[in-house]
Amino acid sequence: MRTVKAYGATSATAPLEPMTVERRDVGPHDVLIDIDYAGICHSDIHTIRGDWGPIAYPQVVGHEIVGRVTEVGSEVTKHQVGDTVGVGCQSNSCRSCAQCEQGHDQYCLNGNIQTYNGVDVDGTITQGGYSQAVVTNEDFVLNIPAGLDPARAAPLLCAGITTYSPLRHWNAGPGKRVAIIGMGGLGHMGVKLAVALGAEVTVLSRGTKKKDDALAFGATRYFDTTDADALAELTDSLDLIVNTVSAGLDIAAYLGLLDVDGTLVNVGAPSEPFSVPAFSLVPRRRSLSGSTTGGIAEIQEMLDFCAEHGIHPETELVAADGINDAWERVLSADVRYRFVIDTHTL
Ligand code: NAP
Ligand code: ZN
Ligand code: ZN
Repeated sequence: MRTVKAYGATSATAPLEPMTVERRDVGPHDVLIDIDYAGICHSDIHTIRGDWGPIAYPQVVGHEIVGRVTEVGSEVTKHQVGDTVGVGCQSNSCRSCAQCEQGHDQYCLNGNIQTYNGVDVDGTITQGGYSQAVVTNEDFVLNIPAGLDPARAAPLLCAGITTYSPLRHWNAGPGKRVAIIGMGGLGHMGVKLAVALGAEVTVLSRGTKKKDDALAFGATRYFDTTDADALAELTDSLDLIVNTVSAGLDIAAYLGLLDVDGTLVNVGAPSEPFSVPAFSLVPRRRSLSGSTTGGIAEIQEMLDFCAEHGIHPETELVAADGINDAWERVLSADVRYRFVIDTHTL
């Protein structure tokens, strides 16, 4: 067992503060990672603030982790000391259910082990990446390809894969009219990835502050969602919409933008329910769906895709003492487009 410095919460309402967490000894199939960077995901905030229900404190969050391997277990074959690696939302799974056998460990039927606020094999609550080091099973450790800048790659481990997976599943590519609702951490990755996949991309965001950025990321159209008249122009015109908004939304207004057989995939995770009138789906055979992160093999595919296409998240590096301010700025949508913690400052 080793004790490492971290930054975490003691309650749903208190600011985050310096603390320590225990990391298990490196087992035969484990990898010890010295963490260099940890992205700040809106899910970190939902979790700590109790938006999804009560949790146990103290809790350290963070599931966008990039670092270097400093020790490997005796049976480890996939990683070596010195490798630049990543850890995302899941840190283990049952490996034997129908979903795990197909590589869809994000949908493990026995419940995978989340990188934070999950129940580990020894019964302890997992603690996440706002920390100096982590011990993870080798099968759930990703290789960060040489073409990616480690200081900017961390958000790919959640924001990247959470948008890549539905874009791939619903065949975003040439000839597909794709829209992304909300351009925060997930949304801006959704735009970059959909553009790289060859789709025609529209951004739906509040106001016009993000318009220039959206077009610079390769979107061809931008609509201010606070202007209902402008949005009406898109009625019946889209094949795929990915909703990344962290708050409740009038989902029916967006379903109306889908053409026949179009799909709206929700990846945002607000606590409020959506209201879905039957007639927003029925007359156009539209679908409303959901998606969570991606499996380990698909995360590696996405990282390799980003290296090949030169795709990096837009990041702002923050020190440990800036984490609470960064959370406030995420909550007010004042992030361009992902905060990454320099964990050396812990
Ligand atoms: P984020 O960086 O805060 O971005 C969310 C965006 O939603 C904002 O930039 C803003 O976009 C829009 N928004 C925020 N409040 C809004 C409101 N009241 N009304 C309308 N739009 C609003 O958050 P994120 O890290 O990208 O995460 C987004 C959501 O996805 C969160 O709920 C998170 O928990 C969830 N998530 C889900 C998965 C999954 O596996 N499904 C994985 C990661 C995250 P504009 O300013 O452009 O309008
Ligand atoms: Zn996340
Ligand atoms: Zn499983």
